[in-house]
Amino acid sequence: MSRPRVLGESSSVKTALISDIHANWEALREVLADIREQGADRIFCLGDIVGYGPNPCECLDAVMDRCEAVVLGNHDQAALFDPDGFNPLALRAVFWTREQLEQGPGTAEQIHRRCDFLGELPKIHRDTELKALFVHGSPREPINEYVFPEDIYKQRKMEAFFGRIERYCFQGHTHIPGVFTESGEFIAPEECDYTFPLSDEKVMVNVGSVGQPRDTDWRACYAIIVDEPGERRVEFRRVEYPVEETVRKIYAISELDNMLGDRLRSGR
Ligand code: ZN
Repeated sequence: MSRPRVLGESSSVKTALISDIHANWEALREVLADIREQGADRIFCLGDIVGYGPNPCECLDAVMDRCEAVVLGNHDQAALFDPDGFNPLALRAVFWTREQLEQGPGTAEQIHRRCDFLGELPKIHRDTELKALFVHGSPREPINEYVFPEDIYKQRKMEAFFGRIERYCFQGHTHIPGVFTESGEFIAPEECDYTFPLSDEKVMVNVGSVGQPRDTDWRACYAIIVDEPGERRVEFRRVEYPVEETVRKIYAISELDNMLGDRLRSGR
């Protein structure tokens, strides 16, 4: 769904893209505040709202409330259906998450609403005006496939991705932000000063992770598509949040391995 432009109003449209929240409420809260400050018109979420972190229900409620489009991530799917391909540590977190979704906090109605919402999430979202595809994993396997920076050396794999993209694809899943170009480059946000022009060249953009960054920067990460007449670009944002609060909560829950807290401090 795209917003009609009204003459006389500011003609720029800002679409904030958040992904891989992983039940980290403190990170999501600060990112939502930053999105408001940036004046974004709408928010899309690229999956993995839950899994690993201590606040799945709070994060789900905020995403249901604030996001215009949401796609399904592998952890969202695992929390509802039979998990596949998870290591024992991740599996324990999946089952703990499922318990939280089943028991609340909240009324029976809220609990149902969260589960229905997760159960009905689409695998992809398309925006025809932006010529953009939005997925959790890859354009080929939207829920589960990883596209890592080192994949630029796998030419056939990259061709298979770009063959499925009209112009732009926005994704998450690896928790490593950056831009993949069709000419075979990977550009990390700090290499392009956190802004990348969206031209006619096809690109895949990984928007990074709100709640569990893995690019050695502990700060929450998200992106904004700025769409104005004659110029379209993607801006990467890094947002500080009270990480020790989240770590303390993870330590206090025996089903969530302490490592899941430790890794937040180092962004790994
Ligand atoms: Zn994830």
